[in-house]
Amino acid sequence: MDIPQRISRIREIAYNIWFSWQPETHQLFSLMDRQLWEEINHNSVKFLLYLYPKRLDEAAHNSVFLELYDHLVEKYDRYLHKKTWYQRQAPSPGLLVAYFSAELGIHESLPVYGGGLGVLAGDHCKSCENLGIPLVGVSILYKNGYFTQKIDHEGRQKAAYPETNFNEIPISVCRNQDGTPLILPVPIKESIIYVQVWCQIIGRTHIYLLDTDIPLNNPDDRKITKQLYGGNRDIRIAQEIVLGIGGVRALRKLGITPSVWHINEGHAAFLILERIREKIKEGASLQSALHEVKARTLFTTHTAVPAGHDLFPKDFVLSNLGQMVVQFAISCEAFLALGWDHEHQSFSMTQLAMKNAVRTNGVSKLHGEVSRKILNNDEITWITNGVHLPTWIAPEMSSLFAQYLGWDWMEDYTNQHRWKKIKLIPDQLLWQTHQTLKKKMISYVRYNLYQRLKRNLAPPSVILESLNKLNPETFTIGFARRFATYKRADLLLKDPDRLARLLNNPKQPVNIIFAGKAHPADHPGQEIIKRIWHLSQEKQFQGRIILAENYDIHLARYLLQGVDLWLNTPRRPMEACGTSGQKAALNGVINCSVPDGWWPEAFNGKNGFTIGGDQDFPNECIQDQEDERSLFHLLEQEIIPCYYNQKDHVPEQWICHMKENLISIPHYFNSERMVQDYYKKLYLPAFRGYN
Ligand SMILES: *Cc1c(COP(=O)(O)O)cnc(C)c1O
Repeated sequence: MDIPQRISRIREIAYNIWFSWQPETHQLFSLMDRQLWEEINHNSVKFLLYLYPKRLDEAAHNSVFLELYDHLVEKYDRYLHKKTWYQRQAPSPGLLVAYFSAELGIHESLPVYGGGLGVLAGDHCKSCENLGIPLVGVSILYKNGYFTQKIDHEGRQKAAYPETNFNEIPISVCRNQDGTPLILPVPIKESIIYVQVWCQIIGRTHIYLLDTDIPLNNPDDRKITKQLYGGNRDIRIAQEIVLGIGGVRALRKLGITPSVWHINEGHAAFLILERIREKIKEGASLQSALHEVKARTLFTTHTAVPAGHDLFPKDFVLSNLGQMVVQFAISCEAFLALGWDHEHQSFSMTQLAMKNAVRTNGVSKLHGEVSRKILNNDEITWITNGVHLPTWIAPEMSSLFAQYLGWDWMEDYTNQHRWKKIKLIPDQLLWQTHQTLKKKMISYVRYNLYQRLKRNLAPPSVILESLNKLNPETFTIGFARRFATYKRADLLLKDPDRLARLLNNPKQPVNIIFAGKAHPADHPGQEIIKRIWHLSQEKQFQGRIILAENYDIHLARYLLQGVDLWLNTPRRPMEACGTSGQKAALNGVINCSVPDGWWPEAFNGKNGFTIGGDQDFPNECIQDQEDERSLFHLLEQEIIPCYYNQKDHVPEQWICHMKENLISIPHYFNSERMVQDYYKKLYLPAFRGYN
């Protein structure tokens, strides 16, 4: 990368994920080459590598560019040197949280996340960074990431695993002092594999990413870090060994000494074993090693679905972790007891984490209750998830808020009081801003749809019909998330006639946009995609039911910022928290949700819509029927009429809901509040308890 001296710091900014939530970086890169910037998925490093050098020279002499550049660099320096929230809290010397997560959704250029869990982990790291809470992240660098999705001409999901070139994304190899790459040995079965470490920088925070794809390993071992949730059980446990054991070793080798260890979902629980091993090696008894490790370990469980908990058979664990058992110098039974799940007669990563963590938490109030029950542990507490506001808010909304909440509102968005000023925004203006975002979303979805229809050789009449019905005057519902069956994307589709009447009412037409991936092994999930696809082909649903492909952070942003209503229909109480609705809310998009996950904590009667009540049902079938009935009723009787009750194309009542939503939701359901809770309720007590 040959960058003119005058704008040389653009390289540093490109390598710092901080860039991703600055609207100015997007402007700056777009000024140089808008098309390239979009084509390469906002990957700052690849952009600089692929840009014509001439463009950089031109930029270095363009006054508009330079003004923006200087402003960005100044903002960057100010950010890096400002006094943080943590520094104002009477900091605790020595506090350093190691945050381990098997997936991490930080930016669209690095597809190492499957869904909400990964994106949440990314938002957690970003908010700790913003507040200055000392944290290092540890995760895996999957060569082929999570899959990209295409839908074929019969509605089948086609998964592809494109390779990521690690030299073309904002990460760099960690090196020893002599300049050689930092590599560490990790024991698996009877052998040793080698792990290379990469570093990603978010502001001042470092994330370490582990990679086995190096020539020192044999071809099979190189594939351990190939795919997220891709392989069989052997690969799964190998990945978890790389993450848990390799992760601790990487930090040691880097000279980093965490004082609190945060296990984000069971996949990372082997970090416990490695730390016990270290203490035994230093001469501690097993008992005291267990005690010391536990005191500084925290565990967050994220699922209420049994399949979400990793279980391994006894012999399988012993053969993979044999070298550990020897070093612990304990019996196989005693070793297995560290994570034994009596109910399933298996070794459980969740049990390993829970039994050896001083605190375990769920991710919403309701999920705390559910976890106490399913994990049979009264001590489980909860911290409700939130989202990283700067990542998820549309710049257009953010500028509007700046005018009415104060120019520095982004420094202070957990302040409930400030959000009351939302009332001052003229209805007309809020609506215009929303409509602008809706138009942007529509043109992006049209493009997505057009690509697919063209590829699948759809007749031109179908293409036209489908694209034309997408329009900003039509009430538009969004449903996008993983197509796991418990999320019930098909709840509205069980009675197609009733749905057709609802969507095609000439005075009050409705569009629904669906998007999401189903795990390649989840066949029922893929059947739901097919069902949506089939309906979307029927004449009565063409252009009314829209299936966008390859849901990722990028598409999510458009949908969450641009639809009118965000629909969430999990089978209660299976949704641990859900975060996409929180992202929608901070853009003024109204939620319509089952009272599951975070929603019961947020709903106040005016800031959105709740489907059904919180009663228990005798079985899933009745539950689905009841929820379907409630949802139709709500849409037909309340939601759609409210939206279409407009004066001069402005829906006043609807805007009241939007404002109520903005006043009551984003100030709390953001990850800055969330990590403050982690800091006060979990990190600090774990740190102090031990001292
Ligand atoms: C936020 C987000 C999710 C989580 O969605 P839920 O509503 O929690 O199911 C999944 N995928 C992407 C890309 C996201 O941004």
